[in-house]
Amino acid sequence: MSPEQLWNAALGELELELSKANFTTWFEDTFILKREGEKMTVGVPNAFTKTWLENKYHDSIIKALRRISEENTLLVVYEVSTKKEASPSAFIDEKATKEKKETQNQEKFSPQPPTIQNTTSKKVSTTSPQKSSPKISGIGLNPDATFINFIVGKKNELAHAACLAVSENPGESYNPLFIYGGVGLGKTHLMQAVGHAVLEKNPKSNILYVTCETFTNEFIRLVGEGRADEFKEKYRSVDILMVDDIQFLAGKEGTQEAFFHTFNHLHQRNKQIILTSDRPPRAIPTLENRLISRFEGGMIVDVNLPDLETRIAILELKSRQKNFDINAEIAQYIASNIQNSIRELEGALNRVIGFHQLNNEIPTLDSVKTLLTSFSQGPKRGAVTTKKILATVTQFYDIEMKDITGNSRKKELVVPRQIAMYLMREEVHASYPNIGQELGGRDHTTAMHGCQKIKKLVDEDEKIQSEINMIKQRLYN
Ligand code: ADP
Ligand code: MG
Repeated sequence: MSPEQLWNAALGELELELSKANFTTWFEDTFILKREGEKMTVGVPNAFTKTWLENKYHDSIIKALRRISEENTLLVVYEVSTKKEASPSAFIDEKATKEKKETQNQEKFSPQPPTIQNTTSKKVSTTSPQKSSPKISGIGLNPDATFINFIVGKKNELAHAACLAVSENPGESYNPLFIYGGVGLGKTHLMQAVGHAVLEKNPKSNILYVTCETFTNEFIRLVGEGRADEFKEKYRSVDILMVDDIQFLAGKEGTQEAFFHTFNHLHQRNKQIILTSDRPPRAIPTLENRLISRFEGGMIVDVNLPDLETRIAILELKSRQKNFDINAEIAQYIASNIQNSIRELEGALNRVIGFHQLNNEIPTLDSVKTLLTSFSQGPKRGAVTTKKILATVTQFYDIEMKDITGNSRKKELVVPRQIAMYLMREEVHASYPNIGQELGGRDHTTAMHGCQKIKKLVDEDEKIQSEINMIKQRLYN
């Protein structure tokens, strides 16, 4: 097999494994640049793709290659290049190509997102593409939601890099940009940071941030009052349109239609569209296919629960901003105990600050412990039970309780059913007979099989993995 054939076969495997959007975004423009012994160099169109493949898809790529070829020692590296350079001369005159590539690289992607490098090292850091916090506020932007106030960690670095790239070249690099993930993980913040960064460079740009709810209400109201033209004028005259929590378009046919036309109008004119959602486009129930395919036509990035290091960095940043000292031990304690969202983390910190300022006390580990014990036992955190898992899963997939517990073998039901089994096992250590019982009186062996099936899938299927993460987030929020 020639290196090209090998790579094409691997692409075939990856295409089966990944969602269409991910495959197209990350793999469509890749190719074999060269092969030297064990080492295979894959050409990628830009630095962003390179980082993404290295961080997120490297294992899948290696696995795919090993499934196809007997060579178990294959080494894969990625290099930014355009397809042309993969012509035979590129193999001969490597040096020249490399230089050319380096300059091209700079042109194409300047500046490189600095955080990508930062985050691969241990330190978590903020980035500062802006000189100072901006004074101008775009329509609807929260003045604090800037890049400079955003902590980058492993679980949000790609979303952050995509937002930075978009702020450098709105309408050109990734359009639309679709950011999804659970509640309180920084989607709105990141989206608005793009708005601030663009305004900073170009104060005249016309930026509009709305929640999906505002968009819907305005549409209904203005059209109802016979002022459809005003609606059009407002939404079609912008340079950047941001719609937050787009999942709320579900079930609203008229608004979906209006949004579709707004989207097309802007997109055709290279105006940037940024959307956020609590789930990927395909998982939004009753979203029209034509919208799904529009959303998938750009860049899709996710934000996930931050790791401990990032949570600590966020606490440090926020307490510094509030001129309130918490020592490392306290930061570590809060960050270890509040894991479900950054909003909750901020809430805990505010509580600590409020309490100690009010009582004019310096926080100690003990005083913080006492405060947060009551915090985490607060009414917000209903204990997770098998019932709650079942309700959350059915709600997430928008299916009926009688269907998830029923006998249908349709895939749209079997997978959620097995995910519910898996979560009952993993999250509350329910027994197999109990799990079977909860799911409509199934046999314990069926429950066991379901759990094992998903356990295996979680390692292989990133879509399932991210859906499970989102369900978990809802369970604990
Ligand atoms: P989402 O839109 O995903 O529900 P938000 O963007 O509203 O979440 O974030 C919730 C809160 O957490 C906001 O106050 C936001 O500023 C803060 N936040 C989220 N992510 C970060 C981060 N990486 N660094 C600093 N603050 C963050
Ligand atoms: Mg939000």
